Amino acid sequence: MFFSFEGIDGSGKSTQARLLAGALRQRGFEVVEVREPGGTDLGERVRTLLLDTEAEIRPRSELLLFSAARAQLVDAVVAPALNKGSVVIADRFFDSSTAYQGFGRGMAGKDWMRDLHAFATDGISPVRTYLVDLPPQIAADRRQDRAADRMERADIDFYTRVRAGYLRLAQEDAGRFTTLDGAETLEVLHTQILRDALSVLNR
Ligand code: C5P
Repeated sequence: MFFSFEGIDGSGKSTQARLLAGALRQRGFEVVEVREPGGTDLGERVRTLLLDTEAEIRPRSELLLFSAARAQLVDAVVAPALNKGSVVIADRFFDSSTAYQGFGRGMAGKDWMRDLHAFATDGISPVRTYLVDLPPQIAADRRQDRAADRMERADIDFYTRVRAGYLRLAQEDAGRFTTLDGAETLEVLHTQILRDALSVLNR
């Protein structure tokens, strides 16, 4: 069973992904955690490149680099883990590209975006996607004490587009998405997510 977490930087999605993984392991599930971009040797190298504040990367190149890292992750980790019956928890998956490169970088609503995702993932999709939603200014305030990577240097307008993109995606695919209020406490969010995940897992 495949779960993904989405949200803008500073939303708290990575913490929630980690908490869910821990809670499911405690209940006896075999859990594989992955993050995007990254999770493989190639993916981590691509991540370093993508987040390098010195790198000059054009939007189409950016999209293809994220997609390449994703393809590697699917083939090397996600697909084998799912085939073994493990639960896979991904901190970001293809919705990040639709939101960031699509809505954020002005490539939204393109017919080929879906095809690109299907190609990169070999058709693998999360069964449930937890969108931790938070206004960009609050997320930016939360990020203040960590060094900004290349993407995080973007302005509030960029994050406003990304957030709107996520909310649109969640509306269009309401069966897969669960949208959570990122302003809630860590514990409240975790309880909501765990309850939902266990129901998906029939526990
Ligand atoms: O979630 P995490 O902080 O690991 O993501 C790394 C960086 O890559 C973030 O700044 C995130 O906004 C960015 N990113 C992106 N497009 C994606 C995935 C991640 O811009 N498709």
